[in-house]
Amino acid sequence: MNQNVFSKLGISDAVYQFGEDILVGLRDRFAEIDRVTEYNQAKVIGAMQKNRVDVSCFAGTTGYGYNDVGRDTLERVYADCFHTEAALVRPQITCGTHALAVALSANLRPGDELLSPVGRPYDTLEEVIGIRKSPGSLAEYGISYAEVDLLADGSFDYEGIRKAINERTKLVTIQRSKGYATRPTFSVHQIGELIAFIKSIRSDIICMVDNCYGEFVETIEPSDIGADMIVGSLIKNPGGGLAPIGGYICGTKACVDQCAYRLSAPGLGQEVGANLGLMTALYQGFFLAPTVVSSALKGAIFAANVYEKLGYRVIPNSTESRHDIIQAVELGSEEAMVAFCSGIQAAAPVDSYVTPIPWDMPGYDNQVIMAAGAFIQGSSIELSADGPIRPPYAVYFQGGLTWVHAKLGILMSLQKLVEAGIVTL
Ligand SMILES: *Cc1c(COP(=O)(O)O)cnc(C)c1O
Repeated sequence: MNQNVFSKLGISDAVYQFGEDILVGLRDRFAEIDRVTEYNQAKVIGAMQKNRVDVSCFAGTTGYGYNDVGRDTLERVYADCFHTEAALVRPQITCGTHALAVALSANLRPGDELLSPVGRPYDTLEEVIGIRKSPGSLAEYGISYAEVDLLADGSFDYEGIRKAINERTKLVTIQRSKGYATRPTFSVHQIGELIAFIKSIRSDIICMVDNCYGEFVETIEPSDIGADMIVGSLIKNPGGGLAPIGGYICGTKACVDQCAYRLSAPGLGQEVGANLGLMTALYQGFFLAPTVVSSALKGAIFAANVYEKLGYRVIPNSTESRHDIIQAVELGSEEAMVAFCSGIQAAAPVDSYVTPIPWDMPGYDNQVIMAAGAFIQGSSIELSADGPIRPPYAVYFQGGLTWVHAKLGILMSLQKLVEAGIVTL
């Protein structure tokens, strides 16, 4: 049974065997991931049972969507699963950036200050906040922004944060995942300590966590340890690969109400917003999400071990514990990034014949290369790799609806690096 089952797809015996040798050392890590999956699967099922999910929840609605049972129940399921008072889970939230923009602009007012105590936020938020000048930014509405960098070792600069908090500080945004940076991703426990510190200075500061790529990686979420809002995208972890669009904001009733009034209109709030027939996908995707996240995590750990063994810097490293599904690999050159991404693309079930090239993407400052052969366009819970073309030429690898596909993708990326003469096994 140990013949190279992927050889017909273009994986050489040497590449396949390299992967098999790595896998021998990963059994305990994979077993630990399976335990977290079991816990989170039970959490999701429990929330669905508690809210009596049934066939009426899957009916499509149109128009205003008043009294939409499926939509309202799904929001209760999210709220119960993440242990929050309220949730806004909508196909009308178009992506993660939109969800974050709604959460920020809904809870900030002119004269308020937004603070990021974890350094520069995700690229697309620079325009939302107005770090890069942009029409409609928070800055244009008179909302100022302050930022405290992490210390050199990646830890929180508590003294700097204390100094940065002033009487105008209204909301603190904490990004769990590293995004396109090579800093560490924070554990939920670390985020909890940061929130406790901030609340000890002023308990009325709203603490929001950008939870993108973090959902179901651990057994607790930032909402379990004091976050007032957690925010994410349904074409990442919680959509389980099936949600075709959407975002969520879970948190206190006060915060989520503000978000609903901002997303629709003052006075309307959560009561409008037809589900457009997407409920089955959103429920079933949430049901599958813990398993899908575990496949992605196994892929990330496999990739870290493969590329570290080959001498590349990988973040997290091959043995570190995981707090999101992203694996960064510093490849050192644009050519290596292109080869890696073309391998991910060539391994895909969809669009496997196309060649990814760097391009100027809206919301990003540098050229970006993206590889994704996804059923849902742009979905990064499906196997994908991307990265901005700038030193240290890191690709960010994530997703994989099944572990076997993630494995194939990583082996194919290695195959392409070997074929390009960049790696010798
Ligand atoms: C993906 C991501 C976003 C933005 O989400 P989009 O759906 O791409 O708009 C924001 N923050 C982090 C950390 C992300 O990973």
